[in-house]
Amino acid sequence: MSDKRVKGCPNDKCKDYKKTKYKAEDKYCKACGSELVFVCSKCWTLLASDDPKKKICAKCEAKAEDRKEMIINTGKAIGNGALAVAAAIPAAVKIIPKVIDKLPTKKS
Ligand SMILES: [Zn+2]
Ligand SMILES: [Zn+2]
Repeated sequence: MSDKRVKGCPNDKCKDYKKTKYKAEDKYCKACGSELVFVCSKCWTLLASDDPKKKICAKCEAKAEDRKEMIINTGKAIGNGALAVAAAIPAAVKIIPKVIDKLPTKKS
């Protein structure tokens, strides 16, 4: 699997600093020539881990986990029924106009 992490320029005087995301295989900043460092793809924090699977910092990871949990909890609260309804909506949208067509129009 290829390294999906992003690299950033560590030079805070550089115009690319916290602006340009480089690929893992890039070595040097194109703007200032500084050696690139692995950074969090969300907040530009220097990555402490050498794990190629970890492209975001621990903080952002915790945040992402929170959100995941929230979505799961919300899903549980609403129940699977809501998901089924949501899935059925596109079909319903197609059917509704046809049903309306068949509805009796104003009686004269
Ligand atoms: Zn630079
Ligand atoms: Zn981060």
